[in-house]
Amino acid sequence: MVRRVGILTSGGDAPGMNAAIRTAVRTALHYNLEPWAIYRGYHGLIHGELEPMGSRDVSGIIQRGGTVLKSARSEEFMTPEGRDRAVDMLRQHDIDSLVVIGGDGSFRGALSLQEQGVNVVCIPATIDNDIPCTDYSIGFDTAVNTVMDAVNKIRDTASSHDRVYLVEVMGRHSGYIALYSGLACGADVILIPEVPYNLDDVCEKLRQAAKLDKTYNIIVVAEGVRRLDDSDGSASPAMQIGRYIANQVGLETRITILGHIQRGGDPTVRDRLLASRLAYHAVELVARGRGGKMLGEVNQQITSFDLAYALAQEKQLNMDYYRLYNILSSI
Ligand code: ADP
Repeated sequence: MVRRVGILTSGGDAPGMNAAIRTAVRTALHYNLEPWAIYRGYHGLIHGELEPMGSRDVSGIIQRGGTVLKSARSEEFMTPEGRDRAVDMLRQHDIDSLVVIGGDGSFRGALSLQEQGVNVVCIPATIDNDIPCTDYSIGFDTAVNTVMDAVNKIRDTASSHDRVYLVEVMGRHSGYIALYSGLACGADVILIPEVPYNLDDVCEKLRQAAKLDKTYNIIVVAEGVRRLDDSDGSASPAMQIGRYIANQVGLETRITILGHIQRGGDPTVRDRLLASRLAYHAVELVARGRGGKMLGEVNQQITSFDLAYALAQEKQLNMDYYRLYNILSSI
């Protein structure tokens, strides 16, 4: 009997997931495995949203953002009963292996399936780039390019009106998007959750810049930075910080919250290639009967890690980039 491999996307969607699905399906066929689509992540798995896939089912999707398999979050899967139902569903369909494309929450779910005897290989896909054991996750490069494009446009209007623009980007716990896009856009200030900030220092920097005839400024703020006033639950950090700067320095401020546009769009070359390479290696592992693994890209090599080990690690910010920002923005 031909072995069956299930493929699912779970958690937050990320551009490049489709490229991963396409490669997973076609690599499975290459290794004489039968690829099965599982729709809506663990939710769809529990509720039997499964069907076999052919090569043509993944035609024309490599360039599209989002995920054709859909994504969902599943409270039910967080319970032992829900996971038992998921395992039963796989057994009913004779699927003994899974490729999980998602973030660390999805990986935790995958580990529990592995512990129940399903062979699982995970590949990292999240725009936040907050997954350990990989330099980059699928979707991150596209997201920072989206932010860069937006900040380039904001810079045009900022320079015309001599204003301070604060651009709030995604990253509840991770400053990767803010740091990389801020560096690439030449932001004057970058605020990230990993590095505590002193707003009076930021104000002083803006005053000094004004003395040097700098007429506008770009500040990139990660959504997860410390808020100024927790009682004001409605205001985003960028709004709170913008108001503070306007009051203290007397400069006109404008706030742009980029929000979910960062999750969409056609994946970049880097994301398509990363997704394709990770998915190829994931199915190749499955074909060899291996499971309980996460794949990452480390120093440009696709590298496999024990899943439980990977989930116990903490993703570190690339501090070389932060030091570079400090040098470039202090002159
Ligand atoms: P992401 O994969 O992007 O981090 P989530 O954290 O929302 O997204 O996780 C996606 C899904 O994975 C959840 O809806 C849940 O069904 C499952 N999941 C998350 N954490 C766990 C866990 N600790 N144990 C089992 N399943 C989990």
